[in-house]
Amino acid sequence: MRIGVATLAAVAVVGCRPAGRDAGAVAAGGGATTATATTTATATATTTTTTTATTTAPFGASVPIARYTCPVVLHGGGFGSFLAPADTRLAFVDGDDLLALVNRSPTGALSPDYAPSDLVDVRDGSPRSPRECEQARSCLRRAAAAGLRAMLDRMRAEGQEGHVTSAYRGFGTQCWVFSSWAQQARGGFCEAAEQSALPGHSQHQLGTTVDLFTREWAQEGAKTGRGVFRDGFGCSTGGKWLDENAWTFGFVVSYPIDPDDRRDGSRCLARTDRPVPIDPKTGYKSEPWHVRFIGSEDAARFHEAWVASGPGTPAEITLEQWLRARRGLRGDTELPVCDGCQCGACSTLADDDRDGLCKGESLTLDENGRVKPADEEPRILDARAAAAPDGATLVDVSVHAAAHTPTQTPATTPEGPTYGEGATFEALAPYPDAQPHRYADLPGAWRVGVGPVPEGAVSWPWRASLAKGVLAATWNRANVVLPARPGDSTVRLRVVLPPGATGLRVTLLRDGVEHGSRDVTR
Ligand SMILES: [Zn+2]
Repeated sequence: MRIGVATLAAVAVVGCRPAGRDAGAVAAGGGATTATATTTATATATTTTTTTATTTAPFGASVPIARYTCPVVLHGGGFGSFLAPADTRLAFVDGDDLLALVNRSPTGALSPDYAPSDLVDVRDGSPRSPRECEQARSCLRRAAAAGLRAMLDRMRAEGQEGHVTSAYRGFGTQCWVFSSWAQQARGGFCEAAEQSALPGHSQHQLGTTVDLFTREWAQEGAKTGRGVFRDGFGCSTGGKWLDENAWTFGFVVSYPIDPDDRRDGSRCLARTDRPVPIDPKTGYKSEPWHVRFIGSEDAARFHEAWVASGPGTPAEITLEQWLRARRGLRGDTELPVCDGCQCGACSTLADDDRDGLCKGESLTLDENGRVKPADEEPRILDARAAAAPDGATLVDVSVHAAAHTPTQTPATTPEGPTYGEGATFEALAPYPDAQPHRYADLPGAWRVGVGPVPEGAVSWPWRASLAKGVLAATWNRANVVLPARPGDSTVRLRVVLPPGATGLRVTLLRDGVEHGSRDVTR
């Protein structure tokens, strides 16, 4: 039996958001390498070995995928977008690991044949095969099911009856869900990719994740025909309860609202004064019903780290950042796999542009999932400055970059963001009304650096991405590695010169180190 057609759209929208994104691969790899070098110089052989293990395979050892069983998302499969063959040949994720990093990146996928070995019926805990679970039953791994039952008991005791809409889903079911959604969605494959996980990229395949509502919420959805995945659950009694209490039962809400996107500081209301795209830190829009079991002890550790990270500030972490940090990965996340939808903000294991949909506008990953450097270093062609009517100074830097050159946020556009008085790359608001973000150097990533003459306290205080400016709206809410725009292009920075500045200089930075510099023509 399959999921009923009536519930399909809803399931697709929600439960399956798969993914992740990626900017972190380069950062991760580079960061790890740096750490190793440091360790080698100063620490014992034992320590070095440990660190090296982390660096070699931060995403886990990849295994070949024997047979990719979702041809509909491949070239010729019926959609205009599709995955490159190289991105369907390796799986990095160990699904048995409760702390597995499953996201939208090429490194965040499970093998098609992965299924947990300890699935049970969530209602009574009786063992079930993956095949049985794909049919009429709601299944989770044994520990997750026990945690869920305890949580449902508590909810009941507090006057709320829980309602599980979706639990374990195998690769085949996810393939079916994704493709059905892509067929129904107006935006086709690309709209589906932001709403529903690609097969292999869904946390539901782990057997530890449920879409959990309340009976009241479900009944209302049935009565109105709007289903359970409608807006508003996060601010309902049940949604707030999950947000506050799920962690005490070992569950984490994987996809909260990004702090930049919250209305009036509310944890459950999204702002409406501008479009809210996917959260770059998770790869998806918020899903207050999607909770993943990581075990009580680790959920408590995550909660502690979350509190320490600064909830409500740009530094607030999600489960994704916590899981990455444990692996020594730098930056907020990895870019999604390239499927033709978000060229300029995707990554691929394909080593040949003929095999990829985005040609040069992608990050390319090595067999360990780390971002590869480009064939040549970028170079500055020209740099000019002019006064803007509002008193800011516009600095235009012409740059040549090879395809697949790693760069990083913040991306800039003619409109901004503006480096106002005192602002630096370590504290820059990505847009008006946003709190300042810190765009620390990510290993291996190139940026334009601009600074005043004479130099101030911060070296190259104004830094900007070589990526397409259009990426700013989504990706500047995170510190991530992005692919540079290949060929010749102009990076524009809006800066406010400090009093006493007599000129400007510009350079290209990688790992905080300048590579040539020149005066800006005014
Ligand atoms: Zn879900």
